[in-house]
Amino acid sequence: MAAFGRFFLWPRPRRRRRTLPETEETRALRAEAKAFLPGRTRELAAAAGISFTGRVAIKHNVSNWGSCSSKGNINLNLNLMRLRPELRDYVILHEICHLRHMNHGPEFHALLESLCPGHRALKAELRDWKLI
Ligand SMILES: [Zn+2]
Repeated sequence: MAAFGRFFLWPRPRRRRRTLPETEETRALRAEAKAFLPGRTRELAAAAGISFTGRVAIKHNVSNWGSCSSKGNINLNLNLMRLRPELRDYVILHEICHLRHMNHGPEFHALLESLCPGHRALKAELRDWKLI
């Protein structure tokens, strides 16, 4: 009887799923993203004259395209590799602007517009894309 003891524990509390299942497609996207996005982020930050000494991590989630931590690290979604270059740069620049402004206030938008003219139209275009 003791041997079956562990079955009485089922069902276990459901763990929150933090990552999505890897498929052949997402594995390929991740490899592309790792090879491209960190360098592109540093390039865009340097061109913008914004100091970026943090890390770039590649994430796979359905909640956001990117994020910026208060420690100055940037997370980017591997799905960015599916977007056209202008749209991808817009997301990266959005996160770079958070290195200066940790909010979405008027100064943040003014900086983003100066680095990425027409960014509101790009934001609207991004809504047509689905995170996988
Ligand atoms: Zn933001």
